[in-house]
Amino acid sequence: MGIDVLERGALPFPGSLPEFQRLFPDEAACAAYLERTRWSDGFVCSRCGTLGAPYRFAKRPTVLRCRHCQHNSYLTAGTIMERTHTPLSVWFWAAYLVASQTPGMSAIQFQRQLGLSRYETAFQILHKLRAGMVRPDQDRIGGKLGENVEVDETYVGGRTRGKGRGVHDMVLVAGAVEVRQRKRSSGLNKRKTRRYAGRVRLAVVPDRSAKSLGGFVESTVASGASIITDDWSGYAKLGESGYGHTAVAERGDRQVAEHFLPIIHLVFSNLQTWLRGIHHGVSPQHLQGYLNEFTFRFNRRFYPFNAFRSLLGIVGDVTAPTYAELYAKKKSHPTISSTVGR
Ligand SMILES: [Zn+2]
Repeated sequence: MGIDVLERGALPFPGSLPEFQRLFPDEAACAAYLERTRWSDGFVCSRCGTLGAPYRFAKRPTVLRCRHCQHNSYLTAGTIMERTHTPLSVWFWAAYLVASQTPGMSAIQFQRQLGLSRYETAFQILHKLRAGMVRPDQDRIGGKLGENVEVDETYVGGRTRGKGRGVHDMVLVAGAVEVRQRKRSSGLNKRKTRRYAGRVRLAVVPDRSAKSLGGFVESTVASGASIITDDWSGYAKLGESGYGHTAVAERGDRQVAEHFLPIIHLVFSNLQTWLRGIHHGVSPQHLQGYLNEFTFRFNRRFYPFNAFRSLLGIVGDVTAPTYAELYAKKKSHPTISSTVGR
């Protein structure tokens, strides 16, 4: 074994599926990874607290049995792999695909990539993994000393097939992003700071009123944070809500906004490109789910192994929908083409 998968802190995320498959070649490698993740200092029986090597079973790598009280611990307990008959390696490879690939992969493509014989299995795995992405992150962003949060709103949507030219079904999306500073040495002795995006929050909002935009900010940005917006009246009361608020007078000049709100505009531009890449377009009903997926990927873009682990539910608890629940929800929706504009 050349690479120690358990040294995950130092492990670069594999750049290709074959590379990934070399890290997790079989059930034993995946099970070892789960075991080390759960018991970094060695196995402890959850019933009697006994430390030390458990009994292991070659044909059931996810079961660890306490040598003292015979209690079984299951490595997949609390993860989305719990109680499935699909091999761990298939789940691991599936999570890798979802974490590293572009959106809109169909269950058929997924089935082919994973070499699964049953479509239903591919469908179920794909949707359980996606459920991990579309669940919104709950904590509020911002609030670190010296860190600003840029807030703005944009329209997403565009022409609807069959409705002729013009704008239909435009959906208003509010966005907030942490602006971080990266110290950079440039030249011989000058130290330049460079701004880049931290975490992002995105939500569909009904309109540009103070109630909608203020409500978005209060649910997504930590109180007391320093916020930069344009001077739209919808943001005028943020100061009263306990934020440090700077409103930049735009006066219809887009360049002023680009200068003072560059990071959120970059996020919106990435979002629009990403939505355009979704093969069948996004219906307004499903837009929030896609915003959450974009947010999931964006916020973990520097940490793809974290994305992989959260998809499998290795950290935290995940309730994934069942196949029956998914099918019950399937309805036909009118679909807007994913042409996107502001
Ligand atoms: Zn025990």
